[in-house]
Amino acid sequence: MRGAVMHAPGDVRVEERQDPEIVAPTDAIIRLPATCICGSDLWPYRGVEAIDGPSPVGHEYVGVVEEVGSEVKTIKPGQFVIGSFFASDNTCEICQAGYQSSCIHREPIGTLGAQAERLRVPLADGTLVATPGTPSDDLIPSLLAASDVLGTGWFGAAAAEAGPGKTVAVVGDGAVGLLAVLAAKQLGAERIIAMSRHEPRQRLAREFGATDIVTERGDEGVAKIKELTGGLGAHSVIEAVGTQESMMQAIRSTRPGGHVGFVGVSHGVELPGLELFFSHVHLHGGPAPVRQYLPEFIDLIWNRRIDPGKVFDLELPLEQAAEGYRAMDERRAIKVLLRP
Ligand SMILES: [Zn+2]
Repeated sequence: MRGAVMHAPGDVRVEERQDPEIVAPTDAIIRLPATCICGSDLWPYRGVEAIDGPSPVGHEYVGVVEEVGSEVKTIKPGQFVIGSFFASDNTCEICQAGYQSSCIHREPIGTLGAQAERLRVPLADGTLVATPGTPSDDLIPSLLAASDVLGTGWFGAAAAEAGPGKTVAVVGDGAVGLLAVLAAKQLGAERIIAMSRHEPRQRLAREFGATDIVTERGDEGVAKIKELTGGLGAHSVIEAVGTQESMMQAIRSTRPGGHVGFVGVSHGVELPGLELFFSHVHLHGGPAPVRQYLPEFIDLIWNRRIDPGKVFDLELPLEQAAEGYRAMDERRAIKVLLRP
């Protein structure tokens, strides 16, 4: 089959890869009608994260089940399914508490390489959720978004305790930040401030429910959030970047007693203890337990109540994955959908 392989920073090639096979009796093999490139794939692409030789890439997927292992009970060939970037049993105590991305049996999908024609999904019964039927083609981008970016933005908003009566600020205007705006809106937030200096992203943020746009960043961004909130700061702030600057911007934009939901993959972030001590801010975040939200997402998307697939502003054949990476790296595209 064809699949994307990252050879070195800036070097992604689509080449012939071995077809996936059932390895454990709990595996499923799915065929992917669409896959996509994640902002987190840009960390190794930019050389910020080391690459250990040529590696298959991609961890976002939807697809049709082709084959299941002998111990798979609920997932059946022919079903259209969605899973997330960590396979999980969905039965251990950690999963039952809603933290499937820290499942005691979790397995990362990224190393299996979802930017390909087919994918092996471990722990199929726990990991995959079937849609009510075969989706029409126009629903596929939104269902694919549910696999990671929507779930990550949603977890950010939930961890920041976005809800009725709350003022929510979102640091980061990538796909995750934009979908955190959508999530905050769905969770009933009263006011949603998107921090972005890019006009097309501002427009999408407004479509998803942002009431205010702040173009300043760093200390100036913090000052602007304070100005908009009577000097107090926001109740809920979502950090969707993962840098020192964005994390401090999030913490300093939050009022005492407020909550930061941090979902940008942290790179080189160090928190100043004394400032944190006096901030009175709650911090919660990490890799989103997307599996927890999949049944709700499928319902919302199937009934066309949300359209998170709008974050895909460039669609390419899988064969042109390299151009997709370049477009996201250069911020010419918010998020790239690939069609195998
Ligand atoms: Zn588990």
